[in-house]
Amino acid sequence: MFISFEGVDGCGKSTQARLLAEALRAEGRDVVLTREPGGSPGAEEIRRLLVEGAGERWSAETECLLFTAARRDHLERTIRPALDAGKTVITDRFADSTRVYQGATRGELRGFVDRMHDLAIGVEPDLTFVIDLDPETALGRGNARGGAEDRFESLGLDFQQRLAQGFRALAREFPNRVRLIDGSGSESDVAARIRAAL
Ligand code: C5P
Repeated sequence: MFISFEGVDGCGKSTQARLLAEALRAEGRDVVLTREPGGSPGAEEIRRLLVEGAGERWSAETECLLFTAARRDHLERTIRPALDAGKTVITDRFADSTRVYQGATRGELRGFVDRMHDLAIGVEPDLTFVIDLDPETALGRGNARGGAEDRFESLGLDFQQRLAQGFRALAREFPNRVRLIDGSGSESDVAARIRAAL
């Protein structure tokens, strides 16, 4: 089974991906926990270019190609081998992040994003959890853990509000695959909602 976690920066998706991986391992499943951008040595190299570089170094289209290149490597080297071996794969972000971040917020790039996805990726998770949290609360959590960590997280509240809308719209667009999970409350509250949905 292939599961992804999505949501705005600071929503708790990395924590929830880890908690679900731990819970499924405790039940005896073989779980690969991974993340994007990154998740394979080559994709982690591309991540460094994207996340640590100066803002606006590339056009939105070029940035989309780099995220897609990283995803292709992640798929080839990490995700597909694990699924072929019968493992459960849990990834912190996948193609929905590109649909929302590059597709809906940097101009109207969604058509470009979709064509790149069809050409280079072509697979979707079986199940996607979008952790839905008010961006103001999410940014507060981010500040609590040390403030903006990279150039995307420092883009501010308006940007994060647009992302949150984008993720909610995805849940409406893919109702069979994407589950919107209320991200408020404690870690264990949110984890319980995810287990119930799973
Ligand atoms: O989830 P994580 O914080 O590791 O992601 C790294 C950064 O890359 C984040 O700030 C996220 O907003 C950004 N990102 C992006 N487009 C994607 C995936 C992540 O701008 N497709």
